[in-house]
Amino acid sequence: MNYLDTAAAHGLDDVDFEVPAVLANAVDLARSAIEHLGDGKAGAHLGVVGEDEAAASHYFEANVPGYRGWQWVVVVATYPGSDKATISEIALLPGPDAVVAPEWIPWDERLRPGDLGPGDLLPPEADDPRLVPGYVANGDPAVDEVALEIGLGRIHVLSPLGRDEAAERWHDGEHGPATEMARSATATCDTCGFYLPLAGALRNEFGACSNELAADGQVVHAHYGCGAHSDTPAPKGAGSPAFEPYDDGAVETVSRPRVVEPAAESGLTVAEGQAETETETASDAAPEPVAEAEHPSSTP
Ligand code: SF4
Repeated sequence: MNYLDTAAAHGLDDVDFEVPAVLANAVDLARSAIEHLGDGKAGAHLGVVGEDEAAASHYFEANVPGYRGWQWVVVVATYPGSDKATISEIALLPGPDAVVAPEWIPWDERLRPGDLGPGDLLPPEADDPRLVPGYVANGDPAVDEVALEIGLGRIHVLSPLGRDEAAERWHDGEHGPATEMARSATATCDTCGFYLPLAGALRNEFGACSNELAADGQVVHAHYGCGAHSDTPAPKGAGSPAFEPYDDGAVETVSRPRVVEPAAESGLTVAEGQAETETETASDAAPEPVAEAEHPSSTP
């Protein structure tokens, strides 16, 4: 079978029919090179592709555990006028159905909120648009006042973009005004004694909750709210604010009707039988009178 027949038999569409015959017919040479390598057997020959006038690549199915769909590729070479081919290169490459790793994504594009762990270092990107140098006005009066007038401050401060993005995340987050907790609350955070407003431009909209039984330490929107608001009225009685208490110490006496059943043989009712038994027991238990003349101590 020549290389044209081989290509047709294995359905390899991209066979270069200009491959020199000496290279196209070097199938056995290529297969023996794979077996000599000792890293796995070569399966069916899939075809040959010309690289240039002196080189061609032979493709084989790779019978290598863990490499389903991969192919052995053997590059054979010759020189013009020669009737011999030699091995130039062997590689194991993924075929069209191979199981391969997902496309690599740079680490800084893979990061997600919550990925940062203790000891991790995460510098901001160069020219991060969320930050501006501390010596320029950033639009936040409280920050600009310190940074510009006194000349002190941080190397970087939030840019207007960074501030807007943070405010949007917090507004739409789990402590925003549209959450079920906020909609169920009777009062909002900005009227709560546990609410600590932020400094700066976000002061009117956000603060930190300091109630350990609520959103303690979290940034909450001024119009968020919860049932632990400092003005939540105390419950009546000793129960929970939502339910009336159940006093299981109170005892209620309930009288039960007496059940009267017919006696099995006597035809008396249970009540009559009990009465008769009680009467007989009383008469049997009465002590017999003892005559004083019969007493031994009275004998002269
Ligand atoms: S206790 Fe509730 S209402 Fe008060 S600040 Fe915290 S989250 Fe807001």
